[in-house]
Amino acid sequence: MKASLRLGRSAGIEIGIHYTWLFAFALIAWSLAEGFFPDRYEGWARSTYWTTGIAAAIFLFVSVLIHELAHSLVARGLGYPVESITLFIFGGVSQIRGDAEKPRHEFYIAAVGPLSSLLLALVFWVILTQAGLERAPLRAMVGYLAFINAALGIFNLIPGFPLDGGRVLRSAVWRATGSLVRATNIAATVGQAFGWALIAIGVFQVLATGSIIGGLWTAFIGWFLNGAAEASRRETAVQVMFSGVKVRSVMDQSPPFVSPNAPVDGIVRDQFLAGGRRAVLIGEGDRLLGIATITDVRKLPQEKWSETPVAAVMTRSPLKTIGPDEDITAALRMIAENDLNQVPVIDGEHTVGMLSRAEIVRQMQLRQTLGLRPPAEKAG
Ligand SMILES: [Zn+2]
Repeated sequence: MKASLRLGRSAGIEIGIHYTWLFAFALIAWSLAEGFFPDRYEGWARSTYWTTGIAAAIFLFVSVLIHELAHSLVARGLGYPVESITLFIFGGVSQIRGDAEKPRHEFYIAAVGPLSSLLLALVFWVILTQAGLERAPLRAMVGYLAFINAALGIFNLIPGFPLDGGRVLRSAVWRATGSLVRATNIAATVGQAFGWALIAIGVFQVLATGSIIGGLWTAFIGWFLNGAAEASRRETAVQVMFSGVKVRSVMDQSPPFVSPNAPVDGIVRDQFLAGGRRAVLIGEGDRLLGIATITDVRKLPQEKWSETPVAAVMTRSPLKTIGPDEDITAALRMIAENDLNQVPVIDGEHTVGMLSRAEIVRQMQLRQTLGLRPPAEKAG
């Protein structure tokens, strides 16, 4: 996830905070200090409400981190490399490289999350009832943490994708039917229905109870879940359709290689307009110097196109590149993460092609129109 702040490493996993999380932290601390604690415990100093609210928000943050670490450690134990954990406004995401290859793996990785939240709830509850805490704010905070972790555990057990419970459901349907696409469709449909239900509940909260912030927050989470479910449905369909397909078979195998001295207007005329391309590689011999895209060219006023060499507007090397034998799904992920439209394909020292987002989409439509069946899906 972009725009995140690095916090450090834990068990070799990078921990980061996305800037949206700061907003969630402030909102939670504020609602605890001004609403939750004063409503339940009377007569504290205002500063006590705030220190308790902030401390509870910090422990909530640690709890979410433990939940994510549990996912990450199980994934790593099953052989999936884990790059990082990022906390953002709605919780946390573990960046696990590659998707689960077997339903059993997905089940373990997903189920351990809610389990760790419920375990944390139990730990806080035992502290609350057994540790003989004397100070009221401390008791209030531990009680809140027991409650919120139980709520998090239960919320995540709801069987809608992409919640943990949705992943558990997906792993079960995947195992039963052998089809990852069908399993994803079912789990994502439940996820979307749940998202819509949350939006409706949020609207009801605002209209019927006048709880504007609480209602908006609920609706916002519903809207996010709904979108995430739809996105994962699409992503899985693409992944399955392209499984085993290599960059080599989708790339443009003879992309034009233009001299850095070529004037911009010639490239616009010959490559963009006549050739229907959106980008050309710029190089000498087969040494890649950069790439010139429509976006690069548009930065230069049109009257200067004829007198300016393309070297002046191109995006220079080092560029993001990809190898010809990488999977298309890996290429797609890389293209999306870096927000690119095309990427040069490099084999060792040589530039062997160019892969564009547009061509991948065209191939996808072609495969759909032809009714090509994806390679047999693995079941475990
Ligand atoms: Zn989780």
